[in-house]
Amino acid sequence: MGLFNKAIAHTLPAVPKPIIGIFAKPYIAGERLSDAVDVVKRLMAEGCCATIDVLGEEVTEKEHALDAVEIYKQVLQRINTEKLDANISLKPTHMGLKLSKEFCYNNIKTLAETARLYQNSLCIDMEDHTTTTDTLEIYRRLRKDYDNVGTVLQAYLRRTISDINNLIPLRPNLRICKGIYLEPHSLAYHDKEIIRLNFSYALEKLFINNCYVCIATHDERLVWEALRLIDKYKIPKDRYEFQMLLGVEVDLRKIIVREGHRLRVYVPFGQEWKAYSTRRLKENPHIVGYVIQNIFSKDSRNQRS
Ligand SMILES: Cc1cc2nc3c(=O)[nH]c(=O)nc-3n(C[C@H](O)[C@H](O)[C@H](O)COP(=O)(O)OP(=O)(O)OC[C@H]3O[C@@H](n4cnc5c(N)ncnc54)[C@H](O)[C@@H]3O)c2cc1C
Repeated sequence: MGLFNKAIAHTLPAVPKPIIGIFAKPYIAGERLSDAVDVVKRLMAEGCCATIDVLGEEVTEKEHALDAVEIYKQVLQRINTEKLDANISLKPTHMGLKLSKEFCYNNIKTLAETARLYQNSLCIDMEDHTTTTDTLEIYRRLRKDYDNVGTVLQAYLRRTISDINNLIPLRPNLRICKGIYLEPHSLAYHDKEIIRLNFSYALEKLFINNCYVCIATHDERLVWEALRLIDKYKIPKDRYEFQMLLGVEVDLRKIIVREGHRLRVYVPFGQEWKAYSTRRLKENPHIVGYVIQNIFSKDSRNQRS
């Protein structure tokens, strides 16, 4: 599947929007906020909560970042009025990180403030390694004044355990995921088993240090490992949650919910879905394989959310 995935991924920019739409559909709520609201309501009926992401990244104009802030404010307002069990996730480069760190900090601060007014929270997603240090710096600054802000660390990065050690005194709210970007071997583990071991090591450190831990994976071995650590350290249910992407491993998601664990689904929406999906597919051609499997697997048909 490897070469096939890569070949498809490289031809993506020329692929018409409706075709990309086939790949994107299971993973995107739709173009409008109301699409995301509908999906979140369906997820809540299943016993899940959600984090809403407004699609967009790598903005090159301040105006676009400010537009994104306004959309996120509407999302927070809507979550409040519709009484949704949901918070927001945002990307630093959507908030203008590549334009100016201070500008990005102020935009995220505005949203942390708005979220706080609604007794809600936000998570700062982690992008590729060129943004890690700046993102963590912004998180540290915000964490001083806002306890409703969390961020993400990627188990594939060699620096992650040391980042955790440095963040622990702040009692951070951290999402641990494997990491989606293609990173050089000098900075990131490429061996899948080491990434799993590092994921587990990260979880254990955070559990032992009483942090709020978001376990973001669809890998059942890691779900098992997290459950083992939760049992070993007798972690109460209000100190962790599982997280999954919309449309991925729906059966596993249902099992986790049925077993009584909090599970948050990442729900992206917005007009930027073609750019987002194309970039994700190019960055990680394995997704092509996942999607093809999902489309043709008997069990996964009709499992949109
Ligand atoms: C809630 C959430 C938030 C995330 N936030 C970030 C972030 O801020 N920064 C970042 O770098 N990464 C983020 N990720 C992505 C993450 O880093 C991984 O790339 C992704 O979760 C796949 O890793 P996995 O642990 O599920 O294991 P894998 O071994 O990659 O996947 C396990 C199985 O899940 C299925 N699967 C996984 N991903 C997909 C997919 N996209 N489409 C279809 N099927 C799939 C496949 O069947 C696969 O066999 C996030 C993931 C989640 C769940």
